[in-house]
Amino acid sequence: MRDIIINQPLDMHLHLRDNDMLKLVAPFSAKSFSGGLIMPNLSTPITNKQMLMSYKNRVLEAIDGNNFEPYMTLFYQNYDTKFLKDIQNDITAIKLYPAGITTNSKQGVSNFDIKELEPTLSVMSELDIPLCVHGETDGFVMDRESQFMDIYEQLATNFPKLNIIMEHITTKDATKIVQKYDNLYATITAHHLLITLDDVAGGFLDPHLFCKPIAKRYEDKEALVKLATSGNKKVMFGSDSAPHPTHKKECCGCAAGVFTAPIALQLLCELFIKDEQNINLQEQNLQKFLSSNAVDIYGLTPPNKTITLREKNYKVAVDYKNTTHTITPMYGGKTIKWSII
Ligand SMILES: [Zn+2]
Repeated sequence: MRDIIINQPLDMHLHLRDNDMLKLVAPFSAKSFSGGLIMPNLSTPITNKQMLMSYKNRVLEAIDGNNFEPYMTLFYQNYDTKFLKDIQNDITAIKLYPAGITTNSKQGVSNFDIKELEPTLSVMSELDIPLCVHGETDGFVMDRESQFMDIYEQLATNFPKLNIIMEHITTKDATKIVQKYDNLYATITAHHLLITLDDVAGGFLDPHLFCKPIAKRYEDKEALVKLATSGNKKVMFGSDSAPHPTHKKECCGCAAGVFTAPIALQLLCELFIKDEQNINLQEQNLQKFLSSNAVDIYGLTPPNKTITLREKNYKVAVDYKNTTHTITPMYGGKTIKWSII
């Protein structure tokens, strides 16, 4: 039996939702991770300091005493200098959503004209506030991310001092663009490193693997795995763990999102730790992907925490519930090869 120790694991793209759902899901991330970048797309998106601080307090209450830092984000809109200076120390990044592209994103950006974005992005650049982007157009579902690459290139070249994070990349195209510009970085989810569209819809439809961006082709998945496991400094882990009640997944009109918080670390361990011969390098690259790259990119000082993983079968729960909600995780009821001890 082999053990792997991860220092200060970070989840740099996390949906914790609110109220009773927040109370149900937050402890899973807070137990396994040292910190997480908390997404701002609540049913009313977080657009001011009062909402931000009040949500942060609800998150801190929900993590149930675990040593976990919630890195807060603001929902992108046009913000002025005074507002951004005032909120700068309370946020880690601002998250930009194209309007209507995913859960609770109606108030997002509908015009990607650089002139429209320039006033806010220039100030963010000056103040060194990173911009996280959900990079999809409203085109054909398999092409939405690739069609967004032009916008990433325009943002990267027009704002060379702005750190831009391409969130949850899913394509070979994105793995190339992120390496082309110094100020582009990316997060990759656990599920996009493991599944393709075939797993979602190639046989019986699996609603618990349905997410946005949709999982793509085999060659895309291979490119993502190659980049993530190589130790490349431009990429970091962001689970995009996005819980929905089971009845909103197992229905007509299935909500998009995969809930991976309880198993993400175990799945990544299985993916990175492949053979005895290169074990030290594989372990170092896992540590980079899960923590050190994010620490460098965002300039973070996460709480001290070490997580030990053991190569030992772990049966994933069929579901998790409290009095209000039932949620089904990815691989619910299946056995995976690593456990947290
Ligand atoms: Zn997300």
